[in-house]
This record gives sequence, C-alpha cells and structure tokens, in this order.
Amino acid sequence: MGLKIYNSLSRQLEDFTPLTEGQVSMYSCGPTVYDYIHIGNARTALVTDIIRRYLEYSGYTVKLVQNVTDIDDKIIARAQTLGISSSQLAHTNSEAYFEDTQRLGIQAADVHPKATEHIPEMIDLIQTLIDKGAAYVVDGSVYYRVNTFNEYGKLSKRKPEDLLAGARVEVDKRKEDPRDFDMWKAAKPGEPYWESPWGPGRPGWHIECSSMAMKHLGETIDIHAGGEDLLFPHHENEIAQSELATGKTFARYWVHVAFLKIDGRRMGKSERNFIFLRDALDRYPAEVIRHFLISAQYRHPLDYSLESLQKSESALKRLNNCLETLKKYDEDTNETSDDKTSQTSKVSKADISLLSAIENMQAQFTDAMNTDFNTAQAMGSIFSLVSHVNRSIANSNGVSSNTLAKARKTLYETCQVLGIYTINEDDTGNTAEYLNPLLELLLEIRQNARNQKDWDTSDKIRDRLKQLNIEIQDTHEGSTWKFIP
Ligand code: AMP
Ligand code: ZN
Repeated sequence: MGLKIYNSLSRQLEDFTPLTEGQVSMYSCGPTVYDYIHIGNARTALVTDIIRRYLEYSGYTVKLVQNVTDIDDKIIARAQTLGISSSQLAHTNSEAYFEDTQRLGIQAADVHPKATEHIPEMIDLIQTLIDKGAAYVVDGSVYYRVNTFNEYGKLSKRKPEDLLAGARVEVDKRKEDPRDFDMWKAAKPGEPYWESPWGPGRPGWHIECSSMAMKHLGETIDIHAGGEDLLFPHHENEIAQSELATGKTFARYWVHVAFLKIDGRRMGKSERNFIFLRDALDRYPAEVIRHFLISAQYRHPLDYSLESLQKSESALKRLNNCLETLKKYDEDTNETSDDKTSQTSKVSKADISLLSAIENMQAQFTDAMNTDFNTAQAMGSIFSLVSHVNRSIANSNGVSSNTLAKARKTLYETCQVLGIYTINEDDTGNTAEYLNPLLELLLEIRQNARNQKDWDTSDKIRDRLKQLNIEIQDTHEGSTWKFIP
C-alpha cells in the first residue's frame, strides 16, 4: 500500500502522487511572530516536520517552505504596547521561534520566507487580480471580489448564503460584498507601511501566503498544511487569490492539524490557557513533549495534561533503556568477532521469532504512516518490538547479537522518522544547544592540527568521536559531523 493522505479539499483519504515524480513541494503556514509559540502551535509545526521526515524516509526529495508572518495587526498592537517597533518585536520572536522549534527537534524548512521581504511579489499578485477584475481599490485599500471566483467555498464547503450571514457580523461599508476581503490595507497613522500603486499600506495575511508559496514552490504545490483554524477563511482565500490569478490548481493536498486542547478547550492566546513551548521545554525533556504531541494521529484532537506527559516520559524511558541495552550488545559483538561468526551461522528459534517481529514491526510502521501519517499507531509498532526485545533479553533465550543489532537498527531508523531518540539531551534538556558549539570547537581544534600537519591529534579526535557514535566528514568546504545510526 502506498501513501494515502486525507485531503481536506475532497474530505477523503486519497492516494498520494506528487506532481513531479520523486519530488514533493510542501508549504506550511508558519507563526505570526507577536509572541513566543505555545505547545498548540508546536503541534502543527511538528506534524509538518514529521510529514517531511516520512516523505524523505519513503524516498522523496522534499522542498518545504514555512513562512514567517512578520507584519500583522497583532504584531503592530503588541509592539505599540511594549513601546518598540514592529520589526524589532517580529525579529525577536522569530529568533525565539527557531530556537524553540530546534529544541523540539524540528528541522528547519528549506526556506523560511518573511512577509516583509516579499512585498513586491504581493503587489504584483494584487495587480494581476485587479487587472483581471477580481479586485477593487477603495481609499487606498484593495479588496478581493469574491463573486468573481465561482469555486469560492470549495475548501470549507460553505455555501454563499452561510458565508454572507457570517460576513455580515462585521460589515465594512467599503466592501461591495460582505464576503470580500482585503489584500492591501491602506496605512493608518503610526503604523508601518510600504509604498504601492494604491498608496502607502501593508499586505493582508492571505495574500502573503499565496505570494510566498508561489514564489518559492511554483503555481501548483503538492501539499499545503496548517492548523484546522486556518481552513476558513485563510486557506479558502489563498485558493481564491492564487487560482484566479494563475488559472491553475493552487495546492493538490490540503492537510489540517487538529487542535491541541487543555481541559477540553482549544489551547490559544485568546483563551489565555496556553503554555509556552519554551516553558514546557525547561520542565520536560524535548523528547517527552515530542512524544506526547504525536501520541494521537494529527487529525484527532489531543488533550494536554500532566498525566499524558508523565505517560510519555515513562514510555520513552522504556524505549531508551531498550536501545541503550541493544547498543551494548552491538558493542559486545564487535569485541568478540569469533563469537559473532559462530552466532551468525546459528539461527535459533529465538532468532527466527525476533526476526519476524522486526519484519512485522516494519510493515506495521509503514502501514500506519502510509495511512495519513498515523503516528500513534506507528509508535505502537515500535513499542511492540521493544517488548519483544526486552522479553528476549530478559529470558536469555539464545537470541544472537546479530539479530539484536538488527532490531536496534530498525528501531533507530523508525525512531528517526518520528524524531524521537535523536534529540540526545542532557539533564537540563538543552543538549542541542550545547552539543553544536562543542563539536564546532572540536572540529576547529582538529582543523588547526591538520593545518600544522599534526595528524596524530587530528586522527585521535576523529577516532574518539567515532567511538561516541559521531562521524566526522571532511569536505572541500570544511568538516561536518553526524550521528552514526
Ligand atoms: P498563529 O501564530 O496563531 O498564526 O498560529 C500558528 C499555527 O499554529 C497555525 O497553523 C495555527 O493553526 C496553529 N495553532 C494555533 N493554535 C493551535 C492549537 N491549539 N493546536 C494546534 N495548532 C494550533
Ligand atoms: Zn498561511
């Protein structure tokens, strides 16, 4: 069975085939940087990270783009309250976003475009829509004319009459139709602005994502992701703008992540019930938070509680203990190569049983992830192999080191897809922050040694790191390091 993705557009599980064979383009709506992110925002970012990791594990080359909304009403309002500029506030919070998500083991996207760095592209797109009669200018603001796009409502499945009723709640007299939305907002006194053909102003949120997605990924993208709250109006409006401008499908698969809840209510800034990701990371190891956030399939709501985190903590302890024990078996094998040879040739009943458990686990893991990235079931398959391995070791049932090494490799590889057992933390939960500069320092010392032709020191650093499962690779651009699986 190949990969199936639930497409919010068709409301069905669909076979996944990218537009270009072997390559996937993916856009994920990123943070509006008016504050630190909470663990609800982190759920959406993490799901994007896991989808990308799994696509890569399945052999695709992925280009992931995740924007940073660095100009918006909330940013302006908060900056005014704090007495700083909007750009200063946005800069501080986007740096904090990258720091926090990195601590959670989320890999950086290939491009993180900032809205304020794409104003000319937004102006071009708005102009195209005006030229096509799909937008109009009123007092320096530009509105999208919803009734020019016949398919408006196709994502949210809202009928025109429902949309009208909803939009009437806050009627802007300047709009031709209450459903119309702004793409360019005329500058108000004291607010940041950019020059445009319609006067000074700033872009609306929806045009930002349409422009940045198309600039970095082309007119049609494979996967577009975001939290469930973005489905309407944000994504509906992105479709209307992009498809009317290009006449092409904007995004082929729409993925929406369900809310993280707390006490049954959505975790959110407006609800005042949120926990900043950085505060959670100061209290719990990143892997625990990560495990908790993927303990439900992404379309199911997930409830935050201390008990759930504690459950994740003890599950991970079991997994880590198992992998650490298996590492030892692996090393034992290397030390006694004679034993290894004799063990390889003997395949006991216990070996056959564990080998088949490994095979089952791989099949279950792939099935789970192929079924709309079901991380909960994928994790279940990992833990069933952990139980099998633990039983084999505890019963000393004659399973060979080779088979145990195979179990370790399989567990390690699948854990990497989920990004667990890879964050390698110290007790304070900050290892990535410590390890990177530490290794940079070691690589620098080694480079100095190499420059002085001190090959002993250079080799010693490389060999000792290898014993710690860290491999140094020398390239023309310099040396890099990676963990050895
Ligand atoms: P914002 O910074 O509010 O624009 O949100 C950034 C991303 O986090 C968006 O994709 C939101 O849909 C998502 N998000 C916000 N709150 C939650 C939540 N409680 N659970 C899951 N995702 C959320
Ligand atoms: Zn967006």
